[in-house]
Amino acid sequence: MSGLLGRLNRWQLARRPIPETWLTILQESVPFYPLISSEMRQRFVEMLKIFIWEKYFIGAGGMVITDEVRVVIAACAVRLVLYLDLSYYDKLSEIVVYPYVYRHLDGEVAVLGEARNWGTVVLSWPAVLQGLASPKKGHETATHEFAHVLDRADGVFDGTPKLRARADYKPWAEIMSRHYLSLRKGDPMEERVLRQYGGINEAEFFAVATESYFERPQLMKELVPDLYAELQAFYGGDPASLECKSAASSCSHGDGQSGEKDSVH
Ligand SMILES: [Zn+2]
Repeated sequence: MSGLLGRLNRWQLARRPIPETWLTILQESVPFYPLISSEMRQRFVEMLKIFIWEKYFIGAGGMVITDEVRVVIAACAVRLVLYLDLSYYDKLSEIVVYPYVYRHLDGEVAVLGEARNWGTVVLSWPAVLQGLASPKKGHETATHEFAHVLDRADGVFDGTPKLRARADYKPWAEIMSRHYLSLRKGDPMEERVLRQYGGINEAEFFAVATESYFERPQLMKELVPDLYAELQAFYGGDPASLECKSAASSCSHGDGQSGEKDSVH
């Protein structure tokens, strides 16, 4: 949504109070919400409200769209653009949610999530919950699919979203290509941080790297610091230091296992 009417509409939505139940869901069902710094929390909640009220959440295969579904999925989307802005999701109009891992029509590929067409993201609700429950694995379906949306927001699906400044594109291309090619070659250091699935093409590399940036940032910062710094220059924030502050974390990195084969899109 852009233009004067869009901005007015967003301003009005941002002024509406957040339902109390949504705050409870954020606290209880979104593991990364308590880690968001107090100065960013109000912005997070405002963006979350606008996202939920602007997008259509559609249940498929018998899925019932509850407030929990809306809030958890929107929280995953908003986390990516907390230091950017919601315009990256302007072309996204609907989120289709299945109650199970669904299959393509050919029946061969099980899909955990999919960024289909330009305006639709399709997610498996169990896969979303599983990704959030075991963040150290660096495999988070909703984050992965919303990274694809960011990538496509500039009209090209190529692993490079609209960066903050023109001067950012050259270092981005250099660093992302180098790590992408290393992952393809099976470099063990890359494979400790990134799922092998990121070696399929540049678009998947960006989505997989985004999962690791948010889900095991300390490990990424330690093993591939230039990749962490490049993603940080785009996404902003410092998830590695947030992970450090987490009560559940001892500031040691993840289990170092990665590269599980799967068919996520
Ligand atoms: Zn993908």
